[in-house]
Amino acid sequence: MSLWTGHLSRNPLHSIGVGTTNGRWHWDGGFRPGTGWIQAGYGIDLGTANTVVAGVDGTLLLNEPSVMAVRADGDRKGQLVAVGGAAKALVGRTPIGMATVRPLEDGVITDLQTARSFIVAILKRVHRHPWQVLPPQAVIGVPWGATELEKRALIEAVEEAGVGHVDLVPEPIAGALGSGLNPLETRARMVVDVGGGTAEVTAFCFGGILAARSCRTAGDEMTMALHQYLRVEHKMLIGELAAENLKMQLSRNGSGPRSLTAEGRDLASDRARTQELSVDELDAALRPVTDSIVQTLASCLQDMPAQAVADVMQDGVLVFGGGSLVGGFGHRLEEAFGFAVHQAERPLTCVAEGAAMCLRRPEIVKAFG
Ligand code: ADP
Ligand code: MG
Repeated sequence: MSLWTGHLSRNPLHSIGVGTTNGRWHWDGGFRPGTGWIQAGYGIDLGTANTVVAGVDGTLLLNEPSVMAVRADGDRKGQLVAVGGAAKALVGRTPIGMATVRPLEDGVITDLQTARSFIVAILKRVHRHPWQVLPPQAVIGVPWGATELEKRALIEAVEEAGVGHVDLVPEPIAGALGSGLNPLETRARMVVDVGGGTAEVTAFCFGGILAARSCRTAGDEMTMALHQYLRVEHKMLIGELAAENLKMQLSRNGSGPRSLTAEGRDLASDRARTQELSVDELDAALRPVTDSIVQTLASCLQDMPAQAVADVMQDGVLVFGGGSLVGGFGHRLEEAFGFAVHQAERPLTCVAEGAAMCLRRPEIVKAFG
């Protein structure tokens, strides 16, 4: 589209009223004196659990759960009711006629239509510059195992949301970059990303991947483990959000009290009830999940060349993703492998920040894209 034709843009991002007065297009310009044409750029981490968007300069523009609430029946079936935090608050308490859905599974798109409406809603929130005329560009993190078909679906959904140019970068590389590592240097590095649906262990050096392994036991499985533990051992039913909350309290616990309280429903009497739980028993309930991440890391090390393993043993590994925050996780890895475990400074946002850095580092997209 020529910038000078003055036609109303078909770009859905412009449908928020930007650049129009009384429905008529007015020329708002895309040129700012001194800076020239401005093209917005976004680094996007579309996670199974959370979606994070960072701007070109690294500022966080959005950080919301990847959840939508939609109408489940009637004429307006599929219509969006709420996105992000507001939709997540409805999980486990969804009114009749509505449903909460996650647009991504294991970090990839399964249902194109759902993913599209989610991405459009997310990008509308961050795309606010009234002078913006050039469609924005974006770099998006994708799981290292994503197939060509899955990548294509993602690019299509984001382009349909009005983004002009889309590049993809593997999430582990973006997370490493966003945490200060240089994925182009010759020394081998290893990162462990514990997200909601999957935990991914990736080793890389000199712009290439050395080995990568993933497992489907990560943050959400930890929540499920606590839920199951309470059901089986304490005959008590708690909601998904309550179980997640318990897990988070555990990670904040540190040197705090050695017990936590869970609120839920007694399985036998169906009455509301509270239960005191020791930190040790909850740690033990999470153990099978952390064990399987330890196994995944061990397999990744086995796949690597000896010299690269030596680098990792010396430098340790970088961990990020929300699941890596669970109490004692770093310690568990140190105990199992004997190397240092470095927690990323911003474990929940470093992938989006690294993806945003790629907007200005095309050589990284070229090496890993
Ligand atoms: P994804 O990349 O799959 O969207 P995230 O990296 O955002 O996932 O991590 C989400 C997972 O991390 C969820 O399972 C969430 O419960 C968990 N999580 C987030 N914060 C914490 C915390 N402080 N302690 C333990 N788990 C956490
Ligand atoms: Mg992630």
